[in-house]
Amino acid sequence: MTLVLDHANVIGGASPGVVAGFAVTIEDGRIAAIEPAGRPAPAGAEVIDLGGAYLLPGLWDVHVHLEWPRIAAANVAELTVQYAANAAQGLLEAGVTSIRTAGTPHFIDVALKRAYASGRLLGPRIFAGGWFLTTTAGHALGTGFAKTCDGPMGFVRAIREQLEAGVDHVKLNLSGGIFGPSWDRHWHSFLLTEELEAAFAICRQRGYPVMAHATNPGAVKAAVRLGAHSVEHGYIMDDECLALLRERDTWYVPTLGITHLTPAQSATEWESCWVDQRGLTPDIIKRAEDAAPEHRGWFQKALRSGLKMALGSDLRPLRDSALLEMELWVKDGASPQQTIDAATRQAADLCGVGADLGTVEIGKIADLIVVRDNPLDDIHHLRALQLVVKDGRVVADHRSKRRA
Ligand SMILES: [Zn+2]
Repeated sequence: MTLVLDHANVIGGASPGVVAGFAVTIEDGRIAAIEPAGRPAPAGAEVIDLGGAYLLPGLWDVHVHLEWPRIAAANVAELTVQYAANAAQGLLEAGVTSIRTAGTPHFIDVALKRAYASGRLLGPRIFAGGWFLTTTAGHALGTGFAKTCDGPMGFVRAIREQLEAGVDHVKLNLSGGIFGPSWDRHWHSFLLTEELEAAFAICRQRGYPVMAHATNPGAVKAAVRLGAHSVEHGYIMDDECLALLRERDTWYVPTLGITHLTPAQSATEWESCWVDQRGLTPDIIKRAEDAAPEHRGWFQKALRSGLKMALGSDLRPLRDSALLEMELWVKDGASPQQTIDAATRQAADLCGVGADLGTVEIGKIADLIVVRDNPLDDIHHLRALQLVVKDGRVVADHRSKRRA
């Protein structure tokens, strides 16, 4: 099957900026040609005239939890249906074509990944991490997606179980967070050196990347020194953290939304709307607001120092998460181009599939979105979603629902 997306303004090609007036031809799920617009299409091709709309790679969110809303005492079947609905909605309504999960109970993410990859169910491409591994008195214990392990062999066994269940990476919790009881603070670290060394050793031996939740300088440095693939959050860092991240070529995923999305900090209708439905407690709001200025400062310093960074939100549901996080990147000083790159090509690189995904280039898998106006002028234009293409097939067409 051949699909031609004609009269496209392409963003996220080989070079930065907009390449205006092109036709992108997709054959068997991959981009086969990118040529000046308006040429005769191959016989039998389906042609969609984009009329100068903006075509870019599908969006990625590399820090996702699929539960939303949280159901008390939900069983596995309920969670599975809920997660599938949330993931599909993110794909169809926000153009999030790929995600990396950061903590999912019962390997529901592995099951969804397989169902989506088989084509029997429609949803985003998933890079699955299974359970969020922490300690007794660790982080995220109230979420339902944390598994507690204690002692070096506790971590080794839990990690081996994850590998056997089919995860792509291991989510390891090293420190506390913004959401949690009084003994779970982001400046607290949780693992003994022996536990850390054993956990990283088994991942290294089996060749699995570690996605490290690390929120203070000690945890960030331990994660990077032991070979983490990505450091998540980094609410508090220091210059040595940044130097180490760069020296070891480790990814940094800042998750700005966790500290930035509170009633007093909301600046747009989308932020206010999300904050209203989130129902944060006064304690959590204070924790987030206390942490936000320093978090912002390290994000900005990381951006300036040229670290490898990708966009991951830690927000939910998926329909809102990547878009909110991208808007926060821009609000904190990233350019729209930097932000889109972080949510496309860099995210694909982080997940190890940069050769096949993440840009609009010949030979790549056609996971694409079309938006009406230029998101490089205003990142909020990503919300004017017109088309979502996954594996070369139009899976959502919103054009008739939007005014010109
Ligand atoms: Zn998370």
